[in-house]
Amino acid sequence: MKPVISVVVPCYNEEEVLPLFAERMRTVLGGLGLRYEVILVDDGSSDRTGQVALDLCRRYDGFRLVSLFRNFGHQNAVTAGLDYAQGDGVVLIDADLQDPPEVIPEMISRWRDGFQVVYGQRREREGESGFKRVTASLFYRIMGWMSHARIARDTGDFRLMDRGVVDVLRAMPERHRFIRGMVSWIGGRQIAVLYDRKEREAGKAKYSIRKMLLFATDAITGFSVLPLRLVTGLGMITVCLSLVYAAVIVAIRLFAPAYYVPGWPTTAVLILFFGGLNMFCMGLVGEYVGRIFEEVKGRPKYVVGSVYPADPTGVAPAAPRTTADHPGH
Ligand code: UDP
Ligand code: MG
Repeated sequence: MKPVISVVVPCYNEEEVLPLFAERMRTVLGGLGLRYEVILVDDGSSDRTGQVALDLCRRYDGFRLVSLFRNFGHQNAVTAGLDYAQGDGVVLIDADLQDPPEVIPEMISRWRDGFQVVYGQRREREGESGFKRVTASLFYRIMGWMSHARIARDTGDFRLMDRGVVDVLRAMPERHRFIRGMVSWIGGRQIAVLYDRKEREAGKAKYSIRKMLLFATDAITGFSVLPLRLVTGLGMITVCLSLVYAAVIVAIRLFAPAYYVPGWPTTAVLILFFGGLNMFCMGLVGEYVGRIFEEVKGRPKYVVGSVYPADPTGVAPAAPRTTADHPGH
């Protein structure tokens, strides 16, 4: 029978924490009295994660394993898990127990209240280095400034999503996925649940600086064409400055010829002017590239909340219906 709750867990070299994770998860989910499934996604681990996960699946009902062929990265592992999840509500959670499973019941109760996305928001960043705190806060600030996608500060991917939202997310075909941004883009009724982010139970963080930079680049370029606009603006400013400079030189020539150096002002103005013009034109081309980029992403143009009167044939496009009122469907 179809589960009510699916839990998607990306795992990359998590052999040490997985058994612990499974215990905590089973305690929490077992106490709910709901049908559930836990989908472990082995993201091409090079340790024994795959074996450990398989053992857990054999031992425990509702545990499933999706093994990726190689390491595709956190966001892609989550995407794979979402494709296999069948529940009416889907929880995303890290394997390292930094996101406490004990928060899930509260998420489910908010979902039952009718919220389509319930995301975990960190109260504390206990186990994280100063470096991680500073870069994370800088990242959220820049994102907030650059893009329309409202991403609440101090949220990760730890969240519960309604089936409708999951279906829209799956219908978004873009390759470079920044899931928390995409979920925020979808909209719907969203609410935060506060929790204390714990230290990793075991193992090391799997996000290298390189992976963090790639992640930030995906986030910014996926949700903002501002970098392209910046070039246009910069070009425009340079052109204006060069014109001002040209005027200043003419003024010097006319009113203070003693200070006039023949030859080089022309060169300087020309360089400035054409440099600026170049940048401006590049930015202009960028505008079109930006538009092509928006089109190529092929995102749905809108997301329907509900239709009245409800379509009895049910052949409406993917819309985030809330299934929370009818668990078990
Ligand atoms: N992860 C993954 N593939 C990767 C990197 C990480 O599936 O290439 C998983 C990892 O196993 C963990 C989650 O993504 O469950 C978050 O990773 P991590 O704890 O290293 O990130 P942090 O908590 O430092 O942001
Ligand atoms: Mg972690």
